[in-house]
Amino acid sequence: MRESPYPMISVSEAIDIILREVNTLPPETRPFTEVIDLVLAEDIFAFGPMPPFPAATVDGYAVVAADTGKRRVIGDQMAGYIADLKIETGLAARVTTGAPIPPGADAMVMIEDTEEVDGMLEIKTSVSPGNYIRPVGEDIEAGQLVLPRGTVLKPAEIGLLAMIGRTEVRVYPTPRIAVMSTGDEIIEPGQKLQPGQIRDANRFALMNAVQQVGGMPVDLRIVRDQEANLADTINRGLELADGILTSGGVSMGQLDLVKPYLAENGTLFFGRVNTKPGKPVTFGLLEGKPFFALPGFPVSALVSFEIFVRPALLKMAGHTDLQRPRRQVTLAHDVQHSPDRTEFQRVVLSRQEDGTLVANTTGVQASSRLLSMRDVNGLIILPHGQGDFPAGSEVEALVLDVIP
Ligand code: AMP
Ligand code: MG
Repeated sequence: MRESPYPMISVSEAIDIILREVNTLPPETRPFTEVIDLVLAEDIFAFGPMPPFPAATVDGYAVVAADTGKRRVIGDQMAGYIADLKIETGLAARVTTGAPIPPGADAMVMIEDTEEVDGMLEIKTSVSPGNYIRPVGEDIEAGQLVLPRGTVLKPAEIGLLAMIGRTEVRVYPTPRIAVMSTGDEIIEPGQKLQPGQIRDANRFALMNAVQQVGGMPVDLRIVRDQEANLADTINRGLELADGILTSGGVSMGQLDLVKPYLAENGTLFFGRVNTKPGKPVTFGLLEGKPFFALPGFPVSALVSFEIFVRPALLKMAGHTDLQRPRRQVTLAHDVQHSPDRTEFQRVVLSRQEDGTLVANTTGVQASSRLLSMRDVNGLIILPHGQGDFPAGSEVEALVLDVIP
């Protein structure tokens, strides 16, 4: 039997090597309008308080709470201005929501609780000091840590940056990942198939997978199984991107050139992992940039992206939560598994009324059958060292998407 020259390592060893060798990208300063979904690379403190002045939370009248009887209305305090009104016993001012409370007043009364006749205000409710006033710093104190380093910037966080006047922030940039397919048989999806050809599925699945984890795919199209062609395209990838992602060309065929290329020109850390699908998955560094060579079969490519590439891209982008959640799930059916390797099978997870998660297979689990990944929201992990699993067994699953 002809053996691959690359030693076989376990899935967890492979992930450890990747996360050891792949670095977080150096932070950059960006306008706060261009940081959605990026990870913050600095602690963000508020300089001033929010609100910066005592503000009305309703439309109504500013008064002295301890007053009794009618008050004379001396003017209007609208939001956005300082009206120079002073409230004393017996006086009130019309004040709109968000406007500063005029000096001397210690409470607001809602317009709905009042009547104003001939400039005299009658209040039809009890009034306590502080009513309907947001004191200075009630929402954010001056100097407060608003967003710690490592925060993922979503719409609310970007609103906070705007609120405190931080128009530029340090963030980890989006990893740019050059994606190419290899193979003389591979053609663009819009072209007419000639005998022996198949359409490129991997590049499109993988570029979108890169985008879904917050990376920016750089399209390097299809590379023929020739070393010169491969070298040119990889070099272009190194110029344009922070990492390289290939599929195909890592099996035992004589035109499987990717591994030897990486071994000769960079550092190959592993070229075989004891997993199904994805055994020939390969990882190395080329000019200091991560190089992931995924197997050619579409399911192998996507599952190995999920297991090996996704955590690395998250780390490059500054995330610290790199792994998918794991859950115990119950198998709805018998599962055959050969105990000599770790296997990731595609399933649809659903929740039963009692909260149990049930895993249903997506059918034949062949590495070429991309339909086995349609609608998938979980991968069950069939561990190395254990054989077949009868229906009703509990196994661990990676949760990839929402469980209905
Ligand atoms: P390889 O590792 O290059 O021998 O490829 C393994 C299998 O995956 C072969 O059947 C290829 O035709 C198929 N394959 C390789 N690349 C792609 C691709 N980009 N899209 C779809 N199938 C592919
Ligand atoms: Mg090939």
